[in-house]
Amino acid sequence: MKVRTRVAPSPTGDPHVGTAYMALFSLCFARQHGGQFMLRIEDTDAARSTRESEQTILDSLRWLGLDWDEGPDKPGPFGPYRQSERIDLYAGYARELIDKGHAFYCFCDSERLDAMRAEQMQRGETARYDGCCLDLSAPEIEAKRAAGGPVVVRMKVPDSGICVIQDRLRGAIEIDWGQVDMQVLVKADGNPTYHLAVVVDDHLMEITHVIRGEEWINSAPKHILLFQYFGWTMPELIHMPLLRNPDKSKLSKRKNPTSIRYYERMGFLPEALLNYLAMLGWSMPDGEEKFSLETMIENFDVSRVSLGAPVFDVDKLKWLNGRWLRENIDDDEFADRLSDWAFNRDNLKKIIPLIKERVDVFSEVAPMISFFAEGMPPLQEADLAVKNQSPEDVKKTLQFALWDLEKVTVWERDALNDLFTDLADRMGLKIREVLAPMFIAVSGKPVSPPLFDSMALLGPDMVRARVRHAIDVLGGVSKKQAKKLEKEYRS
Ligand code: GLU
Repeated sequence: MKVRTRVAPSPTGDPHVGTAYMALFSLCFARQHGGQFMLRIEDTDAARSTRESEQTILDSLRWLGLDWDEGPDKPGPFGPYRQSERIDLYAGYARELIDKGHAFYCFCDSERLDAMRAEQMQRGETARYDGCCLDLSAPEIEAKRAAGGPVVVRMKVPDSGICVIQDRLRGAIEIDWGQVDMQVLVKADGNPTYHLAVVVDDHLMEITHVIRGEEWINSAPKHILLFQYFGWTMPELIHMPLLRNPDKSKLSKRKNPTSIRYYERMGFLPEALLNYLAMLGWSMPDGEEKFSLETMIENFDVSRVSLGAPVFDVDKLKWLNGRWLRENIDDDEFADRLSDWAFNRDNLKKIIPLIKERVDVFSEVAPMISFFAEGMPPLQEADLAVKNQSPEDVKKTLQFALWDLEKVTVWERDALNDLFTDLADRMGLKIREVLAPMFIAVSGKPVSPPLFDSMALLGPDMVRARVRHAIDVLGGVSKKQAKKLEKEYRS
């Protein structure tokens, strides 16, 4: 058997370190068996998927040195590798399931489903589709389809009994079928859901081992059932432990930067970040913590993956990065890599037009542009003060700005300009009242080169991290506060 693994990110946001973590283990497993590793873009959620996000995911994984044999940018025999380009294919498989009696049309509208779920919750039951459309007759289905309302396709699921999931790391996991929902396979817009697309594609792309996060364990029964319905062989499942915040909650950007590009911007070495991700889930037989990707592949053994909750600890990552920097990089390479990182010609040529008018001699340049190559600016609460506004007001402005910034997909000066004009408008503030704390948050100084150009150059991850940092300097936003602010933000 030719081992084939994949990583299957959804391009709906920043390139997440968790994606790199799955890619790393999938790659090592494939390489160790002389197999192939592929990258598939799961972009069936058309409203949330973007090409920009896809591009940054590919760039970030490549920056880390993770290379795939087949992918959207590397045509192969099982392409296309972007689900949106395979969209016509899934309907036929859904049809096959309906014809075989394993799936059914469901015409329930969201009002009915919401009421059903509310009742189930009230009774203390798991929210689960109640089977209302399960036994519609052919004429009933015809009539409802002719009426033209929304229709989805759902899979049938046993009411009772136990589903046994075999996981390479965890052994047999039992899930009661009564807890498994009659999953929607085809949405009202005709697009497949993740569950249908992942099963069809893992089969067609001849994936032999699925390595993914443990948050997918609860979906495994649906996938097992679909493989059975189609009469296909199920790939082996390997659910990796989820990366965690220091407080053991699921790694989240609210508590820890999660974007790979943030770490790139902070000046971490790709080999160190990769080593750190490896170390979180796996250890070398001799216990050595510092090792390269090649060494990991040579020594890889999936049974050494630890199931403990791996805490993503930025200080530990920094320590490891320091070791790589001192032990593996001589002065020559240090010079090259440092200038590649921030002081390369391309970068300087983008920065120079922003500062040329403001300097008379070179010695004035460094202090003015240092924030392009810094981490979090050293801020005090007083630095963020805005005339006639309380610190709470400023915090609110920054939080609203952050939520807006998190939605930006095309990170360019003009788009940022529009965003802040619109934000000031919505908040009933003058534009400078909104921009004043942003200047400080982003550059650490009340005056800096033009803000939107600077933000465009700094990139979304670093800008968002600095705004988050400024919010923290103002005391942070508790969960309760966030809820209140979110309500206000939405209205
Ligand atoms: N598209 C899914 C994700 O974003 C992939 C899950 C899987 O590997 O099956 O994580």
